[in-house]
Amino acid sequence: MHHNAPRCTTSLHNAPFMSSNLYIPKTCQQCGNLFTARTTVTKYCGDNCAKKAYKARKRQQKIDASLQETKEQQVMQQVATTSSDSLSNKDFLSVTDASKLMGVSRWTIQRMIKRGQLKAVPFGRKHIVARHQIENLFN
Ligand SMILES: [Zn+2]
Repeated sequence: MHHNAPRCTTSLHNAPFMSSNLYIPKTCQQCGNLFTARTTVTKYCGDNCAKKAYKARKRQQKIDASLQETKEQQVMQQVATTSSDSLSNKDFLSVTDASKLMGVSRWTIQRMIKRGQLKAVPFGRKHIVARHQIENLFN
């Protein structure tokens, strides 16, 4: 612990250096005025401009967020409409499509296929169900 003592004096000695009087010529990013900054990270000539810039940034973030939201909603709507459209136009359905069309779970469809209640054609690892096969179920 005694060892540390000299270091303390050194850091004390350095202290005036640390808060050296920096004068960095800068242009305010908010109002464009020239000013002298005391730190390298200062971007604005004063509190007013810093606040204004902060508010503007917040506003922009809000706009971006709402734009993003509308975009997502549009995509979701598109997906919803296209999928329901294509479902009613498709003659051949995947198990997932068939389950959506019938309003049951995929497992129910798969069970029905296994039991032979619903005719399906193996298509790779998937099963394709002909639309009329589903309609036949209700005949
Ligand atoms: Zn300014």
